This record gives sequence, C-alpha cells and structure tokens, in this order.
Amino acid sequence: MTSEERRRREAYLARKRRRKRRRTIQLIKRGVILCLGVFLILFGITRIFQKDENPGEVKAQKVEAEDKKEKEEKGFQQKVIAQTPDYQVELLTPNPYSRPQTALEEIKGIVIHYTANPGTTAIQNRSYFESLKDTQKTKASSHFVVGLEGEIVQCIPSTEISYASNDRNGDTLSIECCHKDETGQFTQETYDSLVALTAWLCGKFNLPVEDVIRHYDVTGKECPIYYVKNEDAWEGFRKDVQDYLDTYGTEPEE
Ligand SMILES: [Zn+2]
Repeated sequence: MTSEERRRREAYLARKRRRKRRRTIQLIKRGVILCLGVFLILFGITRIFQKDENPGEVKAQKVEAEDKKEKEEKGFQQKVIAQTPDYQVELLTPNPYSRPQTALEEIKGIVIHYTANPGTTAIQNRSYFESLKDTQKTKASSHFVVGLEGEIVQCIPSTEISYASNDRNGDTLSIECCHKDETGQFTQETYDSLVALTAWLCGKFNLPVEDVIRHYDVTGKECPIYYVKNEDAWEGFRKDVQDYLDTYGTEPEE
C-alpha cells in the first residue's frame, strides 16, 4: 500500500467513526426526548385523578381517621357527673309507632331537637308520642323531653331506640326541647336542664361533646330551629356542656 493509499484509507475510517458517533448521539437524544414525553403524560394523568379525588377532602378524612385512631389508642375517657339530674320516668307503652323496643346496641351520640309545637309542655309532648299507638299517624318519639320549666320526662329507656333522628336512630339518644314561640329559643330553665342532662349523658355513655349534634346535622332539617339559625348559640351550648363537665365531672372509677 502506498502512503497515499494509506492516508486515504485512514481518512475514510475516520469519517466512518465520526458518522457512527453522530448516529449514537442522535439515538441517545431521541431516547431522552421519548422518556421525557412519557413521563410528562403519566404525570399529567396522575394529576387529573388526584383532582377528581379532591385533595382537601382526602386530607380531612385522613385527619379524622387519625384523630379517631389517637382517641382509641389513648382510650378516650369522659368525666362523669355523679349527680343524676332530676327526671320523671314516664315510659311509653311498647308499640310500633313510638316505642318499638328495638335494642340500641351502641350509643355514639346525642341528638338535640325542638318540639316545633310552641307553648306545649313536656308531658303533653310525651302524651302525643303515647297517642301514636292508637292514631298510628306517624312514627315519632324521643328518649327525653325537656319542658318549659326545666322539667325532664324520660319516655324511652336508653337501651332502646327512639324514632327521632332518622338514620341515627340506631346509635343515638334523643332529647326534645319545649319552647315558647316560633323562634324556637329555649327558656333559661329549659336550657339549664338541657345542659345538665346532656353533660350527664356524655359522662354516662363516655361521649365527647363533639358527639352532641343537632337533628339538622343528621338530615339538614331545621331542628332545633334556633340553633340552626344561630350557629354561635349552638357552639355556645356545646361549650356550656363542656364547661359543666369540666366543673362538675370527676374521673370515673376503674
Ligand atoms: Zn328534630
């Protein structure tokens, strides 16, 4: 091979090497672009699905679940009120319309109501529930009725369900409150008895005050109307129940 031939051959080989290198670089570039594209698409899809799930709600549920877990681990213990409030036991006659005698397996809350019948007394409301066994007009009742003078009448034992709170009849106790007028505002006597009764029940059934709810919180019904229209007054009521427990409650004996 002449030196001229050798030079040409080397130049040819060098060109070939350069071409190969360019091709390799091009392939790598295409690979990188493809990977990036796939990644962006997948990322976009996950974002869309996350939006569907509503991140705020998911977070709230998580917090709620953690709270519950913490409460269970710590073994939530409500204080108990030693002094049983004065109440008159006037149990309804067992009947399918107001006292079906269905067992209340577990008490997870207390639901507050108003009678929506201005000026009526506790005993009159109790009589109305009793009358349903004959009139068969509707299914209605309540564990307790608090009257205008603060008197309390028990209509159903706390081992049985009442017909008061729709979907929550199966795991709550119900308290109906009498009121003087359409505003549904309770008299001071009714209010004081309601606070004492609710606090006592929270202690007896180991319920935190957060589990004291309005009928409104179950179905959206305007009951008890004054506490649906006055959210602050409702929060004030719960605070008064908490204060009552803090003031008069004691740690339960093991
Ligand atoms: Zn109600």
